[in-house]
Amino acid sequence: MSSQAAIEFANAHQKHYLQQLIEFLRIPSIGTSPAHRADMQRAAQWLANLMERIGLHSVQLIPTDLHPVVYGAWGSDEHEAPTLLIYGHYDVQPADPEEQWHTPPFEPTIQDGNVYARGASDDKGQLLTHLVAAEAYLRTSGKIPVNLKFFIEGQEECGSFGMEEVIQQHSDMLRCDAVVISDDSFWDAATPKITIGTRGLVYFEVDIQGPRHDLHSGTYGGAVHNPLQVAAEMIARLHDAQGRVAIPGFYEHVQPLSAEERHELEHIPFDEERFLHEEIGAPALWPGEVGYSLRERITARPTLEIHGIRGGFVQEGQKTVIPADATIKLSMRLVPDQDPLEIARLFEEHIRRITPPTVRVSVRLLSYAYPALVDRHAPAIQAAVEAYHLGFGSRPVFLRTGGTLPVVADFMRILQAPVVMMGFGLPDDNLHAPNEKLSVSQFFGGVRTAIHFMECMARQSTSP
Ligand SMILES: [Zn+2]
Repeated sequence: MSSQAAIEFANAHQKHYLQQLIEFLRIPSIGTSPAHRADMQRAAQWLANLMERIGLHSVQLIPTDLHPVVYGAWGSDEHEAPTLLIYGHYDVQPADPEEQWHTPPFEPTIQDGNVYARGASDDKGQLLTHLVAAEAYLRTSGKIPVNLKFFIEGQEECGSFGMEEVIQQHSDMLRCDAVVISDDSFWDAATPKITIGTRGLVYFEVDIQGPRHDLHSGTYGGAVHNPLQVAAEMIARLHDAQGRVAIPGFYEHVQPLSAEERHELEHIPFDEERFLHEEIGAPALWPGEVGYSLRERITARPTLEIHGIRGGFVQEGQKTVIPADATIKLSMRLVPDQDPLEIARLFEEHIRRITPPTVRVSVRLLSYAYPALVDRHAPAIQAAVEAYHLGFGSRPVFLRTGGTLPVVADFMRILQAPVVMMGFGLPDDNLHAPNEKLSVSQFFGGVRTAIHFMECMARQSTSP
């Protein structure tokens, strides 16, 4: 088997690959900072050079409104083998607060089996595993069991802004049988995780306009429907007594959780007490939507949250004002098959319905993103399960994330391909925080898994 030779090659060159990772991590590619534009260009070029050296073809920097996407491929769509599109990102989060780092964020340091540096886990180390896997195949057998396309962007930490258009414009070039993303962590130190779902999002601002200007409560109190009170009354009508979102039609297209998924969730250990006391710190958990477990509510069910209410007098002391207006900021996390634009329409209709005649209301949709759910029985997911087993010796759990990754839904919608979210990080990697790290053994376990994945994927597509 060619995977064995590739794994032996990667093992024999661990020192080299660690050095390569460190070189990549030294580039402070902070995508959100205008001061680091040159570093972003340097990181993109570094990747392109690496792709050339490995022997990929069509290596190019695809321009975007901000930072380029680095693209490179091996094989061709005409080959019998399936095609994998590997997605990752070379931009990193800012390093501040820098004084809380034990070692400088852009001087990678190996300590206790970890590489400490900004971007070690998110996502430079994880994305490199697939490039190492590709090189290991090419150096040992001269070919890779699958066709590969690398698509490494530089705007992930800015919400992958504009990526939908880039994917759309290059959809022919990006055509594939599956997309692979390694930008995630294990469930715990011993258990890999495959993320099969992400939630969508709609974010709104609702303006409530009452009187023409602020009024004295001694003169007008009793005559005016205070916009802040209206805001509170309207907010109270966004959930029902069972903790459900009260917008008519909101749940119409929600895919019910399968018995299989509910059963599986029940059996993945989850310490609710620890979650409440260590992560949340509120006096008690909210029971939320009736009929669903906590784990289901935070990942597989849609929710509505109020983020802010603006209006009236908020300084020290007192002022007996009836404010002229109030603003509510709120968002909803959506699940398949809710369509964000349809939900936006239903929300606006509901707001019109519950607006009293005493005020004028305007609703603004600030942003939206689609939800995504991958079929766990898809051959690419099964290949990932097998690859983890071979690479780390353990089987992954399937979980959804409650968060939103617009690019996942964009890939699925535009390329019509399943997205395999297989991470190699650990839950304590300190992503977006000081002292980010990646375990060296996770990195090389990731390389082994990536090597196996390519072979498992090729096998999946040839078996009936
Ligand atoms: Zn990331």
